Amino acid sequence: MIKKAVSIILLIFTTLVLPGCGEKELTKYQAEFIMLFDTVTRIVGYTETKEEFTGYSQIIRDDLKEYHQLYDIYNDYEGINNIKTINDNAGIKPVKVDKRIIDLLKFSKEVYEKTKGKTNIAYGAVLKIWHEYRTEGLEDPENASLPPLEELEKASQHTNIEDIIIDEVNSTVFLKDPLMSLDVGALAKGYATEQVSKTARDIGLKSALLSVGGNVRAINNNVTTDQPWNVGIQNPDPEDENPIFKVVKLDDGSLVTSGDYERFYTVDGKRYNHIIDPDTLYPAEYFTAVSIISKDSGIADALSTALFCMPFEEGLEFINSLPETEAMWIFKDKTVRYSDNFESFIKE
Ligand code: ADP
Ligand code: MG
Repeated sequence: MIKKAVSIILLIFTTLVLPGCGEKELTKYQAEFIMLFDTVTRIVGYTETKEEFTGYSQIIRDDLKEYHQLYDIYNDYEGINNIKTINDNAGIKPVKVDKRIIDLLKFSKEVYEKTKGKTNIAYGAVLKIWHEYRTEGLEDPENASLPPLEELEKASQHTNIEDIIIDEVNSTVFLKDPLMSLDVGALAKGYATEQVSKTARDIGLKSALLSVGGNVRAINNNVTTDQPWNVGIQNPDPEDENPIFKVVKLDDGSLVTSGDYERFYTVDGKRYNHIIDPDTLYPAEYFTAVSIISKDSGIADALSTALFCMPFEEGLEFINSLPETEAMWIFKDKTVRYSDNFESFIKE
């Protein structure tokens, strides 16, 4: 979910100097900026000079900020038509938008087909209700309550993805149903991460690891060792002595996790998370976390949400049918299951 962009702080620090595999020495740099996409963004990369690294970091940061504003569903920005503008004009009129919005929506329609409707960005009407109840429940835990099924069912009649009318020639988007709204929280972060990684690579960044709020994308491998990057998957159990659940080797690919442990609220001692299964209109309860490895970070993000809403057998068959896509499921009782090749990515 995308919220307010607060101040962005860019910190850059060098950690160590290593001889590169080419003729020039490469130095490892790290940058961090806060509150883009409501999270922390981290970049680790190897460049010849600090200036070079700073240049890439600033481009990534500025790019992410633009994506953040375009894909925001909660806030308006001066002079920008974003997803919120589209929602505000549902049933009223088409809205002229940046190509990056059109591309995201086209991608989201493909995702809907691929995931058989489990990841549906037209689900705003239902998600909004859960968001309201969750926010109220967090503010006033004593009186936390669940949305009535009737209200959810009513809203679910306004979630038809076909009612998103995209006019590419005029670059407009129109929501045909006045009661529908878009929520791109399931995939926008991953999609934006993928786009900025491509840009950074195209302008010359050769070896880096980008993490946008845990949405991780490797740009090539670690060029100084010619080995994959090591990326930790957070332990869903905060009580566990090991904060890292598994370490995954990433070589020019992406790792994204959806979990029930970060955004949830409690009603009568039971947790309700933020991923809603379109088939029940209630938070999906099959797993604690699902991690996806895929080349494309947008796909990984979209699939992590979809798989979270699918029973294990169905998800397993689905993932194994997709090339170069792997999944790890952590069940509530801590049982772990893997797709056919996930384990080959785990660092021993
Ligand atoms: P996170 O945002 O924590 O990284 P996800 O990528 O799984 O986790 O996205 C969850 C967000 O996606 C929710 O906060 C909500 O905005 C949206 N969402 C929840 N359920 C669905 C769904 N079935 N289809 C589309 N979007 C969803
Ligand atoms: Mg997701």
